[in-house]
Amino acid sequence: YGKAWRKLPKELEPVVVRKLNTPHGIRSLALPSVESWGLKRSDVAHIIEPGEQAARKRMSAFLDGPVFEYADQRDQPAAAGTSRLSQDLRWGLLSVRELYAGCEEVRETAHGNRRKSVETYLTELAWREFYMQVLFHFPKVLETEFNEKYCGLEWRESAQDLEAWQEGRTGFPIVDAGMRQLRGTGFIHNRLRMIVAMFLTKDLRLCWMNGESHFMQHLTDGEIANNNGGWQWSAGTGADAASYFRIQNPWTQGKRFDPAGEFIQHYVPELRDVPAGQLHAPPENGKALAAGYEPPMLDHAEARAATLQMFKTAK
Ligand code: FAD
Repeated sequence: YGKAWRKLPKELEPVVVRKLNTPHGIRSLALPSVESWGLKRSDVAHIIEPGEQAARKRMSAFLDGPVFEYADQRDQPAAAGTSRLSQDLRWGLLSVRELYAGCEEVRETAHGNRRKSVETYLTELAWREFYMQVLFHFPKVLETEFNEKYCGLEWRESAQDLEAWQEGRTGFPIVDAGMRQLRGTGFIHNRLRMIVAMFLTKDLRLCWMNGESHFMQHLTDGEIANNNGGWQWSAGTGADAASYFRIQNPWTQGKRFDPAGEFIQHYVPELRDVPAGQLHAPPENGKALAAGYEPPMLDHAEARAATLQMFKTAK
C-alpha cells in the first residue's frame, strides 16, 4: 500500500448513527430464521444472528483478535477464521467505510505478521469494491461472460448432474460438504465457494450461471456483484479471473484445506466413520467411500481434459 496508506480523509470518516427509527407506517419484518430463509432443517442447520447489533458485535470481536491471525486461518474451512461480516455488509448493517476505518486503527498498532494479516483482510475487502466497479461499468456481466473470447463456450446441460451438485451428492467429499454447508446454513466458506464453483464449471462443465443463481437463492450474503464476480472468476470467464486451464483437483483441495476431514465429517454424516486419509482420494473400483454415500460421479482427469478442449475450441 506504500504511501497511499493514510488515514481516511475527513469527509470519508464514517458517521455512526446511534439509532435509526423505522419511518411511521412501515412495519418491520421479523429477523430471518432457518425456516424463513427456506433452509433445509438438519442437525447442522444454523444461520448466524442477523441484525445491526449482532453485526457490530461481530465486527468488534473480529477486530479484537482474529483479524491478526486472518492470513493463516482464512483458508481453513474447519476453523472460524474469517470475519463472517459478508451478510452484514450485504444488507447495509455495517458500512464498509466503518469497517475499513476500524481495520486501519488496529493495523497501526500491529507489527510484523499481525500487521500483514490486517492488510490481507483489507485486500479481501478490496475484491468486494472491485466487483462492485465491474458490475457498475460492465452490467453485461449479469447476462454474459465478461471475457468476450468465452461467450460461445459449449457448456453441457444436465438437470440430473446439476441436482446432484446442488444437493451435495457428487461423491466428492469436499464438494458435498461445501454444498451441504450452503443448504444448511445459508453460508459457504470462500475456499469452498471456489472448490464447488470449479467443480460445477470445470468438472461437470455446466454453465456458471446455474451456480450463480443457485447461490443467490440460498446465500444469506447473496450479493449480485460479488457472486457474479466469484462465479466468473472460478469459471475463468471473468475480469482478472483464474485462467481457464487453472482447474483445481477436488481430491487434493480436500487434502490441502481439510486434511483431518473435520469440515467434511461435520457436514456429511455418512462419512463420519471413514478415516481421514481415505477422504482425499478416489475410492478403488469407483465404489462409494461409505454405505449410503454416492460413488464419485466422474473421473476428474477425464473431466479436466474435456474442459480444456471446450475452452481451446471456444468460438
Ligand atoms: P472474509 O474472508 O472475512 O472477508 C471479509 C469481506 O471481504 C467479506 O465479507 C466480503 O465482503 C469481502 N470479500 C472477501 N472475499 C471476497 C471475494 N473473493 N470477492 C468479493 N468480496 C470478498 N461474497 C459475498 O459477499 N456475496 C456473494 O454472493 C458471494 N458469492 C461468491 C461466489 C463465489 C463463486 C465465490 C468464489 C465467492 C463469492 N463471494 C461472495 C466472496 C466470498 O466468498 C465471501 O465474501 C466470503 O466467503 C464471506 O465470508 P466472510 O465475511 O467471513 O469473509
